[in-house]
Amino acid sequence: MNSQELFNESKIVTPGGVNSPVRAYEPYPFFVKEAKGAYITDVEGNSYIDHCLGYGPVLLGHGDDEVMAEVYEQMKKGTAYGAPTENEIKLAKEVVNRVPCADMVRFVNSGTEATMAAIRLARAYSGKKKIVKFEGAYHGAHDYVLVKSGSGAACLPDSQGIPEETTSNTFSIPFNDKMAFAYLMEAHADEIACVIMEPVMGNIGCVQPEPGFLRFVRNVTKRYGVLLIFDEVITGFRVSRGGAQEYFGVKPDLVTFGKVLGGGFPIGAYAGKREIMEMIAPNGPVYQAGTFAGNPVTIQAGLSTLKKLDYQFYVDVSRKSDEFRKGLIDMLGEIGLQLQVVGLASMFQIYFNRNPVFNYETAKQSDTKKFMVYFNELLKQGIFIPPSQFECNFISGAHTREDLEKTSNAIEIALKKAWEL
Ligand SMILES: *Cc1c(COP(=O)(O)O)cnc(C)c1O
Repeated sequence: MNSQELFNESKIVTPGGVNSPVRAYEPYPFFVKEAKGAYITDVEGNSYIDHCLGYGPVLLGHGDDEVMAEVYEQMKKGTAYGAPTENEIKLAKEVVNRVPCADMVRFVNSGTEATMAAIRLARAYSGKKKIVKFEGAYHGAHDYVLVKSGSGAACLPDSQGIPEETTSNTFSIPFNDKMAFAYLMEAHADEIACVIMEPVMGNIGCVQPEPGFLRFVRNVTKRYGVLLIFDEVITGFRVSRGGAQEYFGVKPDLVTFGKVLGGGFPIGAYAGKREIMEMIAPNGPVYQAGTFAGNPVTIQAGLSTLKKLDYQFYVDVSRKSDEFRKGLIDMLGEIGLQLQVVGLASMFQIYFNRNPVFNYETAKQSDTKKFMVYFNELLKQGIFIPPSQFECNFISGAHTREDLEKTSNAIEIALKKAWEL
């Protein structure tokens, strides 16, 4: 069956034909046969240079040989134990060793689980129940954080099936807006357990904090006794060896991870100060558990992956990506298009927007219709990016300069097509 036939089949047995909504796009998504290194191949046999990379987990490239060999070895020894292993300690130590705020780590199965557990922990530790997030930030698909963007007011659910009582405990304010943040804290700090934020907003494209913004949020939360959680599910082990908190030099109280940490296998984790983490069961009164938490296969994949992600890796991938983004900016200048090339380290996006993008409102001004023309033309040119203006594109260690040049050339063609140049 080809992709179109598979999609039709899939729609009969799976809602919308996919197991996560963003994977569906018009007229039908390609179905994957396999992926290796920087390339992903569909069932028709077309290969694409992959800049979606599983939406973030794949930092070494698909199916890294060394990682896979070690994972196979582990699989032969069993895949689920329900009892602890030494490798869990090794991976926890690796996280503690890299991440400034991490004294202790608890492994879970997804980023969603990690943020849910971290928020529960923050509420227990503080004895307060309200939380603050930033408009457009994604912290997984659970009830506490799946809210409509608001303007400092308590939020409404962003999905049916979520009680308003739940989301009325969530405030949502614009990113990069010190004033809005200061006002909210001034008015409500005595009810607020925590602020949860993506240090780089990777779920509305790629929006960086303005200089000083993270430091400001850190200082204000500290002053009011509100916990700060960095959701580093994307940025963790990606923007630098110790994640965004190392990159920007700002230390939160708690941090959540996922994606890269699992080396392509499902994982999540939350970590932070010992005093707070000690409250988690069985030590303390905050319950959190999981059948597959600390799964031996995933943990091995994480260990084998992080072993390869040394300082030099980040220097190399960032240099390659910096050159690539600079090339895009030069190319846009040459064809006379004023768009926003954004990104850092191995993250990038082009906003179809003439004006700078610094929060959700400004990101939303982008031309999403033209973006989809661009997306489809890129596919035709053999390049796969997420089918949305509001996702981030990635570069892996497996992408060669030649691959990136191909991507660049295809982007030029696709931009000309989208903007009818
Ligand atoms: C992907 C993501 C999540 C959710 O992780 P899942 O593993 O998909 O549950 C949470 N926060 C951020 C910042 C993410 O990018």
